[in-house]
Amino acid sequence: MLIAYVAGLLAGFGGAVGITVTCAAIVLAVAATMRRAAWAALAALVAAGAVTADAARHAEESCAAAALRSETLTVVVDAPVAPGAYVRARVASCPVTAWLAVERGTAPAGATVNAAGQTIASTRGIVVQHARVSVRRGAGLLSRWRTAAGAGIDSVFHGDAPLARALLIADTRGLSPDVRDRFAVAGLAHILSISGVHVGLIAVALDLLFTLLGASRRVAALVSLGVIAFYVAMIGFPPPAVRAAVMLGVGIVTRLAQRPTSPWAVLAVGGVEPVFDSSVAADLGYQLSMIGVGALIAGAALVDRLALNRLPRWTRSIVAAVVGTTIATIASAPLVAWYFGRVSLIAPASNLAAGPLIALAQPMLFCGMVLAPLRPLALLIADATHPLLAGLDRVALWSAAVPYAAIQVAPTRLDGVLAAIACGAVLVACASREWPRAALVAIAAVAALAWRPLAPGPSSLAELHVIDVGQGDAIALRTPHGRWVLFDAGRAWAGGDAGRSTIIPYLHRRGGALAMFVLSHPHTDHVGGAASVLRALQPARYVDAGFPGGASAYRASLVAARDARVRWTRAHPNDSVVVDGVTITFLAPDSAWTASLADPNLASVVTLVRVGDVRFLLTGDAEGPEEDWLLANEGDRLRADVLKVAHHGSRTSSTAAFLAAVRPRLALVSVGAGNTYGHPSTSVLAALGNAATGGAQVLRTDQLGTIVARTDGQRIFLEAGGEKWELPRSPAP
Ligand SMILES: [Zn+2]
Repeated sequence: MLIAYVAGLLAGFGGAVGITVTCAAIVLAVAATMRRAAWAALAALVAAGAVTADAARHAEESCAAAALRSETLTVVVDAPVAPGAYVRARVASCPVTAWLAVERGTAPAGATVNAAGQTIASTRGIVVQHARVSVRRGAGLLSRWRTAAGAGIDSVFHGDAPLARALLIADTRGLSPDVRDRFAVAGLAHILSISGVHVGLIAVALDLLFTLLGASRRVAALVSLGVIAFYVAMIGFPPPAVRAAVMLGVGIVTRLAQRPTSPWAVLAVGGVEPVFDSSVAADLGYQLSMIGVGALIAGAALVDRLALNRLPRWTRSIVAAVVGTTIATIASAPLVAWYFGRVSLIAPASNLAAGPLIALAQPMLFCGMVLAPLRPLALLIADATHPLLAGLDRVALWSAAVPYAAIQVAPTRLDGVLAAIACGAVLVACASREWPRAALVAIAAVAALAWRPLAPGPSSLAELHVIDVGQGDAIALRTPHGRWVLFDAGRAWAGGDAGRSTIIPYLHRRGGALAMFVLSHPHTDHVGGAASVLRALQPARYVDAGFPGGASAYRASLVAARDARVRWTRAHPNDSVVVDGVTITFLAPDSAWTASLADPNLASVVTLVRVGDVRFLLTGDAEGPEEDWLLANEGDRLRADVLKVAHHGSRTSSTAAFLAAVRPRLALVSVGAGNTYGHPSTSVLAALGNAATGGAQVLRTDQLGTIVARTDGQRIFLEAGGEKWELPRSPAP
């Protein structure tokens, strides 16, 4: 019943309400004529879910639209507010995320504030630029506790504090991108966000502690439940933690009432949150946690059925752990693949190794946080926890370093549905006595999935095409699904432009839709063909730095975008878009930085494109000062295999410090033959080739024409000037 309702909700959020309700109505009619009451009930639930979700989605959209129109937003901030900060917040009146680029005012984390400024829509919610913040209501008691707990963690755990913050109070802001990346590749990302497992481990430890202190079982259970409830409230009710706490509560109550209950029933009660708040159904943490617990219960049932009674007790529990972990990893793989475009093959092994470490570390971390006021004791615990956390990081590091630890996938909707059916059937086959039927369904779904081209063939490569448009930039990124993201659109001249003459025919010949257009800055050699491209190819989105002014071609592009109903959004540092498994992250420009500038070059949108382990850095016409800003603010993320050399190789860009930070293996210069600017500069070319900065291979469009770099996420294959070759791998550092 719950699954049917949640499935309906998901369909509704996915925008498929019409087709879902139609299908449900057909099933309902058929079931009514066949007198199958259960079927009819399920169909009705699916329809109800879809309609509810659709209504919620519309309410959210109209609320967000109203917020965008208003001069002043009332929001609850997630982090301390200070001038210059870029803070995440929640709109008070609707479940919409807002980001404040703070110009004036201060406020503590958790406070409700009025933010006046310029509101614009962005990929990750509403952005308030030049926000002037005034406190409306101070932080609530719970968020003050959370802030205090964070300070306690920092003072006790020192170097381990970022990891401890993530594991204890669901604050992942301090984790470096490298740590996140290696946990993701190792299939351990779920450890970094608080899930039911974390809460469950703390509960078990508390129960044990109170029992040791001499409390009766009943008292111990109830007191730990109270502590857990307070803890979940303090960390802001993340859905997986709520699910775990509710399940714990139900488990304890049924145990105290001595009424043994099916674990499935307990799970259903724990997963009931979407009935009260439909948006929870779309929460990745909620979905993963429901699947994970379902898989563990199914695994336990399977171990029971395998009749391992003859094995010694400890062997049996190890087998149970291995089976449970493996099933959980397999069952959650489709969801992870869908959201992150990645399947971690090492996950079953890495989870097995990480499991005992986290099981020991989590209760100790919790004690360290609670005992922070008793400093010597807390420090002792922190010291004891350190090897466990270091071990956890080692497991992630080693697992991520294994060849083919993770593979890139780009599943379509149909792939997703097939994989979900396969996983559901596997779970049923594990848990149910009538397993043959379920196993048959699983095999059929897997067969259908295997028949579909998931990865093989040249289409599984992502491609970067530096199109020869003479003096100017036009860089087309092709996803493994054959869709395009275009960065800049070349120049314009009297009576024509590079969009019409070169770019549109180039993309048409190869096929595939344009998903997004990114403009680095509004100079004519970049925006010249934009209006033609937007009119002809109608991408879903147009992203740029929002720098005021610029060439007439820029204004023409905005008009074209409006006419073609292309959504315009501003690039913000750290905004990421994933297109068919390719991650596109904007690193610059920062709005505060842009506001003080007169030269659009210096406000170039700088983009990091990641395909597996391969990184492309696209820099537009950024010059020295912006490179310095990047070094100061994004220094640890600039390293890239492929660099689109800034400003056509001008000597005002590509400073030594910047090249040393990027250390590209391949440098691509988009420049017109015989241009009057003297691009590219010989000193920049020398610096790029210099062994001291890694010694990049330099390719120029004025010599080779269009250059194509293809990658599978590991290796890079080049095609230019009628030749094909593989880029040598970087020598070991
Ligand atoms: Zn330029």
